[in-house]
Amino acid sequence: MTDPIENLKKEFENYIVPPSWKDRVWEIEDFRKFREDILKDRESLEKWWEKWANEIFWFKKWDKVLDDSNPPFYRWFIGGETNLAYLCADWQIEQGRKNKVAIIWEGEPVDEKGEPLEVRKITYYDLYRESNRIAYMLKEKLGVKKDEILTFYMPMIPELPFYMLAVQRLGAKHSIVFSGFSAEALAIRIMDAGARIVVTSDGVYRRGKVVPLKPIVDEAVKICEREGHKVEKVIVVKRAGNEISWYEDRDVWHDELLEDISGNVEVECVPLGSEDFSFILYTSGTTGRPKGAQHSVGGYAVHLYATMKMIWDIQDDDIYWCTADIGWITGHSYIVYGPLMTGATSIMYEGAPNYPDIGRWAAMIERYGVTIFYTAPTAIRMLMREPEETFTKYDLSTLRIVNSVGEPINPEAWNWYYKVFGHNDAVVTSTWWMTETGGIITGHFPGLGKITPLKPGTNGFPIPGINVAVFDDDGNPVEPGKRGYYVITNPWPGMLMTLFKDPERYIDVYFGKYKSKGWYYYTGDFAMLDPDGYVWVLGRADDILKVAGHRIGTAEVESALVSHSAVAEAACVGKSDEIKGEVPLIYVVLKKGYEPSDEMVSELKKHLRSTMGPVVASDALITFVDTLPKTRSGKIMRRLLRAVAEGKDLGDITTLESDVAVEEAKKAYEIVK
Ligand code: ATP
Ligand code: MG
Repeated sequence: MTDPIENLKKEFENYIVPPSWKDRVWEIEDFRKFREDILKDRESLEKWWEKWANEIFWFKKWDKVLDDSNPPFYRWFIGGETNLAYLCADWQIEQGRKNKVAIIWEGEPVDEKGEPLEVRKITYYDLYRESNRIAYMLKEKLGVKKDEILTFYMPMIPELPFYMLAVQRLGAKHSIVFSGFSAEALAIRIMDAGARIVVTSDGVYRRGKVVPLKPIVDEAVKICEREGHKVEKVIVVKRAGNEISWYEDRDVWHDELLEDISGNVEVECVPLGSEDFSFILYTSGTTGRPKGAQHSVGGYAVHLYATMKMIWDIQDDDIYWCTADIGWITGHSYIVYGPLMTGATSIMYEGAPNYPDIGRWAAMIERYGVTIFYTAPTAIRMLMREPEETFTKYDLSTLRIVNSVGEPINPEAWNWYYKVFGHNDAVVTSTWWMTETGGIITGHFPGLGKITPLKPGTNGFPIPGINVAVFDDDGNPVEPGKRGYYVITNPWPGMLMTLFKDPERYIDVYFGKYKSKGWYYYTGDFAMLDPDGYVWVLGRADDILKVAGHRIGTAEVESALVSHSAVAEAACVGKSDEIKGEVPLIYVVLKKGYEPSDEMVSELKKHLRSTMGPVVASDALITFVDTLPKTRSGKIMRRLLRAVAEGKDLGDITTLESDVAVEEAKKAYEIVK
């Protein structure tokens, strides 16, 4: 019996070198050697990270690079002291970037010609002043002290990074909750952090409408009160001007708090050490109850700085744009802290990618001459449903690096992205990482001056200084080209310190699986290394299917379907079957202009047979939906599709974007079961 993996294997040798890089390509053997030299012993590994650490600002340098005396609680740059706010503002000004634009913010509303009505260009000096004013206000008026945690429930407006830096300045911490979450999800996170101050806005513009936020905070605060937790102050930034209820002794306008604070107040920036943390942030909740990752200061900063240089090759004249929401780790690390600590000009956009039409992002890339772009496969698959001309009519030629993150990218989507956004010449990588890793773990490294050839759908290589492996159930490495569980084998600077208030869960979730073998960080993903050493993440370990003795990653089956011209998106789960063990159950979203029908089912099965072989295709169940259940960060929640098929309880759905998708899945399942 042939292994259904053959389909993906053809991508192993699909080497693509963007023409402008043709003279700057690593021989794979040389790159392997470069990485191995760094990883060969403790001394060279420490020297490598120390080199990066030496490039950033420290109030006090470290005595020791890595303390691994209490694994798996690793500590980096012991004895060193720095601060994210200082790195992102003060230090940039010291380096001569006082008047450089740090953030270009674009609001969603447009005029009748589609031009934005509001654009704010915030210089590094503006950033410095505003965050100092807020820090002063928080300290003097609200008594915020070092170590206090504040919860932010804010839209994509410049005040969010201002508050982030203000809090860092004081050595306080933030817990940012994505502003699409429900009152209940917010309340749980406020209580977990023990926050007495919540910062929000009246509302936000989204798809041409005002979405109110303050009422959700009101509701969340009520839930907290019911549970015995008091929120003392809710700071409200005025954004959309919508009417809101007001609680006199609790609510306070951001503008009023700052009214009497002059533009040039300065607040001392508190030096933070290696035992200090910078923030907590919850994971997306794709696979279950969200986990509160607690991140460091120095190690986190070094990791971000190094990846901004290696992965993004950030230069002073770049216009950098990451489309994530700051409420996710991607936004924390690669809209705020990473770009700002490297003195970049970073774009921040308030609204939806399809307002006033689906060309909005492309229009913005043209408007600002964006050179570096970062988005998610879910967005790319949405854009792909449109004719290419929708995007190529804008000037996208400035783009030189276009990466994705969040889910595996199907080779089909990769090719589209390379061609349409990358104009067949940009470096494209699906950078793999997690909330817990702090920063990017895999990619290509244009910042090192040379790249390894690209391959559609790959995650590239682990960044130098970090090593990964693919293990079987017993912790033995599997050979190249075979699937298994994806682990990181050595500590790295950006790694989470622990799970907030839950060190036991930290040990258990990330280091429990292979504890008899040593301290291996278990990612929870399913992956494969190819013979060249490239990483291919194949989906969630919880989501893999076991078909006739083969364990198959969801990404493999989904990519096979998405390569059919009628399919926009697909989600695959295993459905238990008495004879086969499991059969693939596939939910398909068709592209515009295609209709579900029995013929379409046969057509897709035929396609599946020709791409993945009979093992996967013969018993596959295919059904159609308009939308897939996704987290609010846009990831497919396969566990819900499985629960539907098994008639089980849905579990934690606080991060689910829309209930409608689950209802649809239930109906679609009835048709095929
Ligand atoms: P939870 O841990 O609560 O279930 P989550 O894992 O979705 O949620 P995140 O930390 O936002 O929370 O996402 C990390 C996960 O996203 C990774 O473990 C991986 O499954 C997936 N992922 C991220 N980037 C990539 C990528 N480039 N290719 C494939 N998968 C990716
Ligand atoms: Mg996760």
